Amino acid sequence: MALRRSRSLYQTACDLIPGGVDSPVRAFRAVGGTPLFIARAEGSRIYDADGNEYVDYVGSWGALILGHAPAAVVGAVERAARAGTSFGAPSRYENELAELIRHAMPALERLRFVNSGTEACMSALRLARAFTGRNKVVKFAGCYHGHSDSMLASAGSGPLTLGVPDSAGVLPAVAGETIVLPYNDDAAVTQAFKAYGTDIACVIVEPIAGNMGVINPKPGFLAHLRRITSNHQALLIFDEVITGFRVAYGGAQALFSVSPDLTCLGKVIGGGLPVGAFGGRADIMARLAPDGDVYQAGTLAGNPLAMAAGAAQLRVLGEAGVYARLDAAAAALERGLRDAAAAQGVALQFTRAGSLWSMFFNQSPVVDLTSVKRSDSLAFAAYFHAMLQRGVYLAPSPFEAGFVSLAHSKADIARTVDAALQSLCALDAGVRSGA
Ligand code: PLP
Repeated sequence: MALRRSRSLYQTACDLIPGGVDSPVRAFRAVGGTPLFIARAEGSRIYDADGNEYVDYVGSWGALILGHAPAAVVGAVERAARAGTSFGAPSRYENELAELIRHAMPALERLRFVNSGTEACMSALRLARAFTGRNKVVKFAGCYHGHSDSMLASAGSGPLTLGVPDSAGVLPAVAGETIVLPYNDDAAVTQAFKAYGTDIACVIVEPIAGNMGVINPKPGFLAHLRRITSNHQALLIFDEVITGFRVAYGGAQALFSVSPDLTCLGKVIGGGLPVGAFGGRADIMARLAPDGDVYQAGTLAGNPLAMAAGAAQLRVLGEAGVYARLDAAAAALERGLRDAAAAQGVALQFTRAGSLWSMFFNQSPVVDLTSVKRSDSLAFAAYFHAMLQRGVYLAPSPFEAGFVSLAHSKADIARTVDAALQSLCALDAGVRSGA
């Protein structure tokens, strides 16, 4: 496979942009090699700068649930752009997208648009701290909530020690206000509230984790979070940047019938344009400026192109049968990949929530970051490159989700399964025997 142009573009990029990329995971460091530079995309396919074609399971990290460049979204963006690309003043586009979101997720009584998931989570956390008058926040190891300082914390040395910075430049005092607990661990949450209950402003959680690969919540985990936060007058924040309009039209909160106080959104609600949103109880959101005393703002927030793209995408998702179709396509992929692994004698864990899925080279069930990290990263890297050679583009990291879109056809799934069968066969005999 020729990659000459991609490599040359990457060399140029490295001279201009740190690491040649604008977001670290794109650099292929977890799998080795150099990133593909993408020239165009359509439906389920992306095409690199050398003209190679791939079935894409990244889908702009989940934003493109209809596939690439769907006519409804492109048309909406074109029409909006002709009427002006940005106003810096309110427009009807914001109302239209906000209404669609609130209709799907009634817990968002009020919401505000921002430009990214990072901003959504950062703003929701500030609001939670202001509303409760408390400093500490609880997050879970392996969940990602963007790169605001207080979310770049990892667990301290003991189960209940306060967080430590996970990035240079994050102040220990800031990370120290973050309590990092194991995902799916009810007892750890109970213990944290026993120790720090009156200081905890909120618990922020991905209701289905998507940033250590896909990890479903154990039965009762989210209900436990709901109960314990309510009992301690702390807020529950669902980060549905991935799961919102992905696992169900109403997100994970509809799927599990657990209603958070605040919700963070991004990805799907922007149809592939830069967007985020956070929202929730009207009494909490009333604390935001200009009504309240919590400052939050954005030059391009509510951008008409992003709002129009998101609204067009959500309207298609609101049609009958869409989520059943997504689920059926992903279930077929799951069946095919499981069978391929069994045929090649490869031990793996396949996890899935609707069209969101992961495959771990791991002999044991995966429930949290510790179990996820026992996966064989070298086997994944070899598999990733073998799949790429065969025209399937997976996320370039063993700990990311895959995304099936409405554009993935039966033929795409069959081609993927066939590529997987060959790629798994090409792995080391040790991996194939599960040794
Ligand atoms: N929250 C979750 C669950 C995410 O998956 C991400 C990004 O992948 C973010 C927040 C941050 O969103 P963004 O990359 O738009 O800043």
